[in-house]
Amino acid sequence: RVEVRGAHKSYWDLEVLRGVDLTVEPGTVTAVLGPSGSGKSTLLRTINHLEALDRGAVAIDGEIIGYDLRGDLLVELPEKKVLAQRTRVGMVFQQFHLFGHMTALQNVAEAPRRALGVPKREALARAQELLEVVGLGAKADAYPRRLSGGQQQRVAIARALALRPQVLLFDEPTSALDPELVEEVLSVIRELSRAGTTLLIVTHEVHFARDVADQVVFMDGGRIVEQGTPAQVIDAPRHERTRGFLQRIH
Ligand code: ATP
Ligand code: MG
Repeated sequence: RVEVRGAHKSYWDLEVLRGVDLTVEPGTVTAVLGPSGSGKSTLLRTINHLEALDRGAVAIDGEIIGYDLRGDLLVELPEKKVLAQRTRVGMVFQQFHLFGHMTALQNVAEAPRRALGVPKREALARAQELLEVVGLGAKADAYPRRLSGGQQQRVAIARALALRPQVLLFDEPTSALDPELVEEVLSVIRELSRAGTTLLIVTHEVHFARDVADQVVFMDGGRIVEQGTPAQVIDAPRHERTRGFLQRIH
């Protein structure tokens, strides 16, 4: 379970997160919608401590991310501990960020070898399995430049799964793709949700969110304005700002 409590974050005088509370239950899918600049990416980055919060905290399965609780005091964890915590959170970005000099297979096998010290042979075998999960078993030896955007993003998903994370975070995973490549990535994400993977997805694909999400969150101005089931938030939004946003992107 991912718990975000009272999350506040500013860049200088710009308040980007203004008290965000969010719980993602194991095995569920949460979709985050919201206009540009509302703080969606910042929220994701605070969950694996790529950004530190100014106030509030994030916990995964009860363990606070980035800090040790000593009495009432949060003490920063050493870098090494933070890196270990980070392996429990998989992240997939809009831009795929694959290693260009490595094959698809090597891209997927790299993190388990480095971060967890998994033996090479075992890491490669598992990477092959994961490429098959995302429908790219036949592309194991291809370099990223020889893959389409949709295929690269699917390799990035396999790579994120390689550390067996407790939760996968997606930041607009299909926004950089040509329209005809969007569905192949969404269908992989849909399969993951069917398999019970815990997912938190920032997306503008409202139909997809309605389809797969258990919980939909609408953010605006650094706050969660509205939150509920897809039927509540997407089909019957109660807030003017949610309604306006949904009308604009439809
Ligand atoms: P988009 O839909 O465009 O991706 P978003 O909801 O993901 O938007 P964020 O990327 O979280 O929004 O950014 C929220 C605000 O914080 C924006 O105004 C952005 O310019 C600002 N911001 C984000 N990162 C930084 C940073 N490292 N330094 C300064 N300002 C930042
Ligand atoms: Mg963003």
